[in-house]
Amino acid sequence: MVSALFSAPLVLVALVWLCVMLQEAWLNDSTVTGPTPLQHKRSRKPKPFAGLTRKPHCDACEHASGLRPQAPSAPPLRIIPTRGRRRQVDTSTHFCPNPDCRYRGWAGWGNIRANGHPNRGPWRQLLCIVCRGYFLETLGTIFHGKRVAPELLVRVIACLAEGLGIRGTARVFEVDPNTVLQWLVEAAAQLQAFSRYVLHDVRVRQVQLDELFALLSAVQDGEVSAADAIVRLERTPRWVWVAMDPESKLLLAFDVRDRTLALAQRFVHQVVQVLAPDDAPLFLTDGFREYLTALLTHYGRWVQPPRRQAKGPMPKPRWMPRPQLLYAQVVKTVRRRRLVGVKHRVVFGTLMAIEQVLAPLGWQINTAFVERLNLDIRHHVAAVGRRVSTLCKHEDGLRQQLALYHVYYNFCLPHASLCVPLPQPLPTNGTGSVKTWRPRIPAMAAGLTDRVWPLREVLFFRVPPWPQPAGV
Ligand SMILES: [Zn+2]
Repeated sequence: MVSALFSAPLVLVALVWLCVMLQEAWLNDSTVTGPTPLQHKRSRKPKPFAGLTRKPHCDACEHASGLRPQAPSAPPLRIIPTRGRRRQVDTSTHFCPNPDCRYRGWAGWGNIRANGHPNRGPWRQLLCIVCRGYFLETLGTIFHGKRVAPELLVRVIACLAEGLGIRGTARVFEVDPNTVLQWLVEAAAQLQAFSRYVLHDVRVRQVQLDELFALLSAVQDGEVSAADAIVRLERTPRWVWVAMDPESKLLLAFDVRDRTLALAQRFVHQVVQVLAPDDAPLFLTDGFREYLTALLTHYGRWVQPPRRQAKGPMPKPRWMPRPQLLYAQVVKTVRRRRLVGVKHRVVFGTLMAIEQVLAPLGWQINTAFVERLNLDIRHHVAAVGRRVSTLCKHEDGLRQQLALYHVYYNFCLPHASLCVPLPQPLPTNGTGSVKTWRPRIPAMAAGLTDRVWPLREVLFFRVPPWPQPAGV
């Protein structure tokens, strides 16, 4: 009885106390949720890059692959003809192929003489006056040892470069598709060597990098959205990596493989091989995060961080980006196959330094030029077109078509945005309107050559084994 009398007010007190505590807890809760946006804001502030404790691994650097062959240290003396009549045939682009000859590989060294057409054949014979060796002017090109008309060969390759598939090209010229494929393989090998020979020590202020997907092995009917393909292809070897200089529009490098760190490393390694060694341009990419590591690997150095306290061991050295390296990302958000947002993220360097590179051109951070190039590649390379039904559906085939397009784009195709007005309009033959523009190609804008190369000239070019002192 007594305990019951006691317990009634006790329960009441307990209830009141509970109410007070609950309210307090609720109030506390609301005061906690109050400052969270502030904290959120603080964490969003970009932290300076702290550096890595070890240098990232690049397979290509390790094996020193992709190193271009170097010329022997001392070139032989140039031969200047002192007697006889002036030479009619220009042999300045030819070199002796004999491995035992002192003059092997040196183009325009005066040791090559034209020797007429043996057996009334279409090709001229050349003579090295040092080793007395004879060879044909087509040695090392796609025309060597072929009975087919050279003009047909050039047209077939041009058709492939313009984006007609192998079967289509075979039908147009009434050739066997396997023959066309064989010619493509040979032309690709020659043109790859041409690109390696010509593209080196290129000086650029910016590089845009991008990847485009290609559905190669499966013939797809209908359009496949980019988002679907990314999900499906994340781990499959079907990405085309492209690097270009947006100013000269020069296509610096491409690669075909999966979309992983190892490939990002290999691709950036290739780009670095093309650029001048002391050059560190502004890199612009999409939000693919492995570029960061790949760029840091090739444009990094060890930095000793300062001591924080007076005593104790020195902090470990950090692998940091070189101070002149600038890198920004263009991060796109796609929702339901629609672009809903574009963000710019400065990764290395400062926004001000990046704007200083872009401002003279009136540009902002973008990857628009390389994306536009990707569209061109889709038009010109049959194997990456959306509806794939060509013979070249695997990686090697795609690589060969891209090698062809690489040279065709850089050296043969005048680029609309690079054309310059002529000082004097040129009249055309016939009834056409006057010419007011001078066509220019990316290689001209980049200072690699001074003229547009017809495809047949590229195919006739004998690629020397090492870079010549005078260039192309
Ligand atoms: Zn020789």
